[in-house]
Amino acid sequence: MDGYAGKFLNLNLSDGSGKDFVMPEEEVQKYLGGRGFGVWLLLNGLEPHAEPLSPENVLVIATGPLTGLGIPSLNHAVICTKSPLTGTITCASLGGNFGVKLKSCGYDGLILRGRSPRPVIIDITAGKWKIRDAGKLWGQNVVRTLELLESDVAGTICIGPAGENMVRYATIASGEHTAQRGGTGAVMGSKLLKAIRVGGSYQTPVFDRDRLGKPVTSVKLKLKESADSFPRYGTAGNVEISHEKGVLPTRNFSMGSFDRYLKISGEALREGIRRKGLSCPGCPVDCATEMKIATKTGTMRVKGPGYQPLVMLGSNLMIDDLDSIVRNNYVCYLLGMDPISLGGTLAMAMELSEKGRIDLPLHFGSAREVGPLLPLIATRRGPGDELANGAASLAQKYGYGDLAMVVKGMELPGYDPRGAWGQGLAYSTCPSGGSHIGSMMVSPEVQGKPAAISGTRASGKIKLTVFAQNLFSSLDCMVACHKACYCTLVVPDWVSGMPSWLRGFFAGHMPGLSSSMVDFSDYCQAVSFVTGIKYDRNTVLRVGERTFNLERLFNLREGLTSKDDILPLRFIGEPFREGPISGKVAPLPKMLFKYYKLRGWNEVGIPTEHQLKKLSIDEQY
Ligand code: SF4
Repeated sequence: MDGYAGKFLNLNLSDGSGKDFVMPEEEVQKYLGGRGFGVWLLLNGLEPHAEPLSPENVLVIATGPLTGLGIPSLNHAVICTKSPLTGTITCASLGGNFGVKLKSCGYDGLILRGRSPRPVIIDITAGKWKIRDAGKLWGQNVVRTLELLESDVAGTICIGPAGENMVRYATIASGEHTAQRGGTGAVMGSKLLKAIRVGGSYQTPVFDRDRLGKPVTSVKLKLKESADSFPRYGTAGNVEISHEKGVLPTRNFSMGSFDRYLKISGEALREGIRRKGLSCPGCPVDCATEMKIATKTGTMRVKGPGYQPLVMLGSNLMIDDLDSIVRNNYVCYLLGMDPISLGGTLAMAMELSEKGRIDLPLHFGSAREVGPLLPLIATRRGPGDELANGAASLAQKYGYGDLAMVVKGMELPGYDPRGAWGQGLAYSTCPSGGSHIGSMMVSPEVQGKPAAISGTRASGKIKLTVFAQNLFSSLDCMVACHKACYCTLVVPDWVSGMPSWLRGFFAGHMPGLSSSMVDFSDYCQAVSFVTGIKYDRNTVLRVGERTFNLERLFNLREGLTSKDDILPLRFIGEPFREGPISGKVAPLPKMLFKYYKLRGWNEVGIPTEHQLKKLSIDEQY
């Protein structure tokens, strides 16, 4: 089938056996790639109620129909599994060159199951695979592992010590990029799989290469035009606006602004620079940044933090020491841990410690207490062991569940939903748990892009949230980079001519119209010309909606219910007394009811038969 290699490599690490798996063509068309493939494969290949860190769990790494065709921003890989942090499905997008190199092996992806008897790496060259002893790699940090496996012709992913020790929020790294959320690195570690190295020369068949040129040129142009205006410090520039809008997580989300925010803002990062040459294949945006930190012998340049590590390891812990935040974020990368979940877990531990409920040397504002804990968490030594299981697990052990700022067990990222109600609804209904990247409702609600809408109005918000979730789900099926989408998903000309107040009015009051303000026709055309199947705006959105519903079915099968679609009490029952959103809480219960209805789910959040039929989802699920 055009656009695809036509097979997955299905490996069982327990006995070292492997065979090809061919997905039915009809399902390929329905789910397109990436996240859609991952969910379908898990629902069909993973036994219900499997323990996430057991050999039974399955790790899927999937590419999409556009991967490796020289279209920048469409070359990520998506990693899907049952999360050890949440017990839900989780799908994490991974930048770098791994997706392209995997497809060049002649596979659309990998299906990994079982547990190796000893630490191993998987090597795939030109369609031939080998499982090799990981030898001295086990125990090495991410940078050292990637150095030892470096190859000019291959792409490599690996885990750090946190993944080896099954820290429930461990990451998988590909160069400077990470699959950050949901603990995919812990699942890789549970299989005693340290790294995967892939490379080959397979060429994906393309239905109409001549016509593909037009959308490709358009995407390239948009990325190039945006490359210069992409913030020099990446997403770090958002600290200021979050503070101003009162949604900056501060003191375990008990406050919405941080009086020392300037010390951790984009301005404070002026030493940081975008680092050329670390981008994903062909992407001119080059979004990676680097910073200088002091060492015993001078200074060294390290991977710079974006908005999320800055606030989750900064304001949320009441820490304003930029050097220690940059250092801790880099150590997270080296050890293979998600800084968002780490920040949420440490904030809860600090609040428990303040209440005298936990005996840990952890206090809000004390930067020097955090650094030494990180290696202990990654290796599960001493107090690090319980912190390695996340905030929800601390709540289970010590009580005070209301202090765990989690949804479905996943620590919330750095936007307070009291001031961004659409984002709050998206957190509560995201199939992977408390993640913002499945909808990016903060973009219009907090950052005012592509049009500013009030974060504290419910009107029109539910429809817009459903649209955004379906859109980002579609983008994950195409394996598109979310960051690059800020550059490529432009507003059409008829919208850009509008005054911003009018744009905001439409976005806030007429969600049907406002959703058409986002133009992703380049992507639709590219998929159509590559596969030879017509995917227009509606069919692409339908792929996303189908995938989202299939994820819901996966979670229901695993025992989750509508009771899990809830925000922590702090956000729905404890308004701030002062600041721009004083007196406001996210009106979630009311919004949820309408959301279920709009999604075609019944009153307890189960997709109706009619809805499944409409989406052509197999009734066996
Ligand atoms: S914006 Fe950054 S992460 Fe996205 S494709 Fe470009 S270099 Fe990769």
